[in-house]
Amino acid sequence: MTDAEFEKLDAKARRFLQRGRNIPFKLSGRLVECRDCGRAHPEYYMLKRNLWLQAVPTGRGCLCLECLAKRLGRPLVAEDFGDPPCDWLTGQPVKLAKRFG
Ligand SMILES: [Zn+2]
Repeated sequence: MTDAEFEKLDAKARRFLQRGRNIPFKLSGRLVECRDCGRAHPEYYMLKRNLWLQAVPTGRGCLCLECLAKRLGRPLVAEDFGDPPCDWLTGQPVKLAKRFG
């Protein structure tokens, strides 16, 4: 998904919120899918901000871990993630450190 496509979807979602309405499930799902491969992914991680902006200069949207590594042009390592790497849905540290450490 290009930056323009993402911003168009985001603007649409904001219009729902401005009218006091919920964002339709299908639309909210599009906003959190991987921008490169379109995969709906279960892992929500916190990457170090400067690294995220290197991969996604606008800082907007989501990437699956595989597409993130492709954009960075190298494998991910534990030090790339926040401390601790966090699963935003559960608030629990995920196994990212073990996977990439
Ligand atoms: Zn992807």
